[in-house]
Amino acid sequence: MASQARGDPAAAAAVLAWYDRHRRDLPWRAGPGEAADPYKVWLSEIMLQQTTVAAVKPYYAAFLARWPTVGLLAETRMEEVMRAWAGLGYYSRARNLFACAKIVAGEFGGRFPATEAGLRALPGIGAYTAAAIAAIAFGRRAAAIDGNVMRVIARLFAIETPLPAAKTAIKARAEALVPGARPGDFAQAMMDLGATLCLPKQPACGRCPVREFCLGHARGVAASLPRKAPRRERPRRRGAAFFVRRADGAVLVRTRPDKGLLGGMVELPGTGWETAFDETLALANAPLKARFRKLEGSIDQAFTHFALSLTIYVAEVRGDRRAPSGYRWTPARALGNEAFPGVMRKVIEAVRRSGIIVGGD
Ligand code: SF4
Repeated sequence: MASQARGDPAAAAAVLAWYDRHRRDLPWRAGPGEAADPYKVWLSEIMLQQTTVAAVKPYYAAFLARWPTVGLLAETRMEEVMRAWAGLGYYSRARNLFACAKIVAGEFGGRFPATEAGLRALPGIGAYTAAAIAAIAFGRRAAAIDGNVMRVIARLFAIETPLPAAKTAIKARAEALVPGARPGDFAQAMMDLGATLCLPKQPACGRCPVREFCLGHARGVAASLPRKAPRRERPRRRGAAFFVRRADGAVLVRTRPDKGLLGGMVELPGTGWETAFDETLALANAPLKARFRKLEGSIDQAFTHFALSLTIYVAEVRGDRRAPSGYRWTPARALGNEAFPGVMRKVIEAVRRSGIIVGGD
C-alpha cells in the first residue's frame, strides 16, 4: 500500500539512492562528487528547453569546444552564435543566450548569480531553468519542474486535476519533496526518473525506486496522469517561399530583423504567413521578376502558436543579376553555413529533391 509521500524524506532518499546507481551519463553533468560548472549547466539547460537530449548533444559539444567559457561566448558576434545554433530551433533562445552571456561577463565578472531570483532576472532564464541552475550548479534547495518532473509528481501524488490548472498543486508537492542535502542531484534524479522510467505512456513502475510511495501506481491510474485539458487546434497559416538561384549557383537570401519570430535568422525571400493567404497573389510578392515555377505540394512546419504550410516557387536568373534592396546572394558553397531555421532547411531540401531545372529570366 502506498504511503502518503507528502514531502516524505524516505521518498527523496529512495530517489537519490537510485540516482547513485542509475544516473544518466550526460556530457554536461559533473561526475559523482564533482562540483558542477555553472556555465555548462546553463548552456545545457538553455539548449534542452523544448529539445531532446539526443538533438542537444552535438550542439553542446560544438559550443563548448568553440566557446569554453561564458567570457569567450560574450566576446563573439551574434551572427556567429545564430549560425552555430542553426537547426536547433526556438531561435529566441540563441539571442537570449548571447544577451545573457554579455551580462554575466560584463556585469558579474563572468560569474552567474547563485540564487533563483538572480538567475531569473537574466535573459532567457525562466522559472524552471533558474531552479535547475540554482540546484545543480549552486546546491540551492530549488524544485526544477520540467515536463518530465511534472509527470512524476502528478503520478506520485495522484493529482487528477488536468493541466495546466494542476501546476500549482504540482509545484507545491515538488517543492516539499526537495531534500535539504544534495538538491542538485535530486533535481537531476527526478529528471532521469521521468526520462527513463516514469515514461508518458508506459511507466516502468516495476523498476521504480518510489513505487511504494506512489499513489498513482497504487490506484492504478498512473499511466493516465497527468490529465490534460483538451488542446485547441493550432491555427494554420500559409505562405510562399521563393528559391531564386543565380546562374553561378548563388541563392538569394535575407536576414530577418533581430526581434520577433526567428529573429536574426536567415531566410529565403517569401510572402507573409497568414491564415487568409491568397495563393493567386503569391507571385506579386516575389522579390524580383523572373520566370517562377511552382513545386508540387507544400512543406509543413509546426510553431508554438500556429502550423505553417509553405508553397515553393523556384526561378533561375542570370549571373549578373543584382540582389534587390534588403537581400544578398549567398554562394552555393556557403549555403550550408547560413543560419537557416528548420523551416527554410525544409524548403531548400524540397527544391533539391525536386531536381527542377529552371530556364533563364
Ligand atoms: Fe512513475 Fe510508476 Fe514510479 Fe509512480 S511508480 S513514479 S507511476 S514509474
